[in-house]
Amino acid sequence: MLHYRPKTVFDVASCTCDRCGRLMTPDGGDFHERLSVSQSCGFDSVFGDGNTMSLDLCQQCVKETLGEWLRVTRPEGDTGDKTVTALKGIVGKPDVPVTIDEMNEAAHPNPAPTRSTSVGPMHARIAFDPQRSGFVATVEYIWTLVSDSPPQLGYWLYDAGVPSGNVRMQCEGESQVPENSQRVILERMRHEELRGERGAALRGVPVQRPESGPPYVRLADIPAPWQSQFRAALRGSACPVAEGARDCAYWSDWIDWIEGRFPRPN
Ligand SMILES: [Zn+2]
Repeated sequence: MLHYRPKTVFDVASCTCDRCGRLMTPDGGDFHERLSVSQSCGFDSVFGDGNTMSLDLCQQCVKETLGEWLRVTRPEGDTGDKTVTALKGIVGKPDVPVTIDEMNEAAHPNPAPTRSTSVGPMHARIAFDPQRSGFVATVEYIWTLVSDSPPQLGYWLYDAGVPSGNVRMQCEGESQVPENSQRVILERMRHEELRGERGAALRGVPVQRPESGPPYVRLADIPAPWQSQFRAALRGSACPVAEGARDCAYWSDWIDWIEGRFPRPN
């Protein structure tokens, strides 16, 4: 068991600018924009061996004294849009929490009929990149998939959770996706979707294991619409004769059909 004793922690309550004497307190913006430096000097320091050098300046004094040499850059990824400006007044003091909803509303005021996070299938946009001579799919404006192979891209998009209906192709300009490639990408996605749906159907169908002979499935156990489709595919094929269950198919045929390999080419 641990035993505790009270401990005094010193927090910065206020700060005085060493140059202009301005008093800065945590409830004012200047306090958080100040420059506070405290540095232990080593040997050969111009401030004396082993001394400590410290300085507190308000932001106005920082600009007036050091402004000539300061490097001021924009936040990474900020292309000068209004996002940061919009957050002014929303994100106030560092120790006052702001919710993401509040920030979203400030940064994207116009298109936000659904303010909370929307849950649903992913969206993607595909363009052709002539420099990479490849296709670039951007999923939800963030995640980028690049491939020079349309079927590969189609597979990746399916894998990323993008339904074929949620894909928009660039249709003009030099980044236009050629019509043939559009077709191949979407076909591959639909193929994978079908396989995925069939796979889900497979998991619900019990495998019958007779004492002798290969395993089989009962067609009645297969859900719609797969039952009728599989039944049509079975036409002309040999079926197992199981005791008490007339309407059956070999489990291997069922698996092959799910995988798109049945009916088998002769
Ligand atoms: Zn000052």
